[in-house]
Amino acid sequence: MDKLKKLVIASNNQGKLREINTLLEPLAIEAVPQSDFNAGEVDEPYATFVENALTKARHASRCSGLPALADDSGICVSALGGAPGVTSARYAGEPKSDERNNLKLIETLKNQSNRRAYYYCVIVLVRHADDPQPIIVDGSWYGEIVDQPRGEGGFGYDPYFFLPEFGKTSAELSAEQKNRISHRGQALAQLAGILRAGKF
Ligand code: IMP
Repeated sequence: MDKLKKLVIASNNQGKLREINTLLEPLAIEAVPQSDFNAGEVDEPYATFVENALTKARHASRCSGLPALADDSGICVSALGGAPGVTSARYAGEPKSDERNNLKLIETLKNQSNRRAYYYCVIVLVRHADDPQPIIVDGSWYGEIVDQPRGEGGFGYDPYFFLPEFGKTSAELSAEQKNRISHRGQALAQLAGILRAGKF
């Protein structure tokens, strides 16, 4: 068996960590949270997802001395020119609140017939803090914003993110279903392909 490789994840979110470890285990890669290295959160001031993810990955790698993986994601609504986008987590301001974010989104889209939206996720892997050739993968997941919440699963905007092909919101999918097809699932699957090809 190949030697076990270790990398740090620039997140302390247990759900993300579990999801990423499930993918990496068969590749003999172990992912540990950045909290193991007392790496605090870094600012995400950029206008693009990829710049924010890269900043988080470099920070985690610098603090840990290990290769690091970071993701950045959000929801982009057509009628709002792609907003809330990179500011999705804090759309309704501080402190972060999924409930207030969703209320603001529904209120903003009142009387708007164009409900198209997509989730976007980018994942960046750096081999070291100054890696000039980060591995970058992404995924987009298309749906529509509905006014009435449905479902108990997922998080964030999921109860309002309707998937016409399933006749359900993403909060009504099982975790396995969502992970298979979501923006994050697509990006992770792409990453797995790259890692399997030995590019890490
Ligand atoms: P991040 O942790 O900076 O990537 O924040 C992403 C934000 O985008 C989250 O706080 C949610 O508001 C939203 N978001 C991203 N992915 C999803 C998802 O799969 N479901 C629901 N909301 C999501």
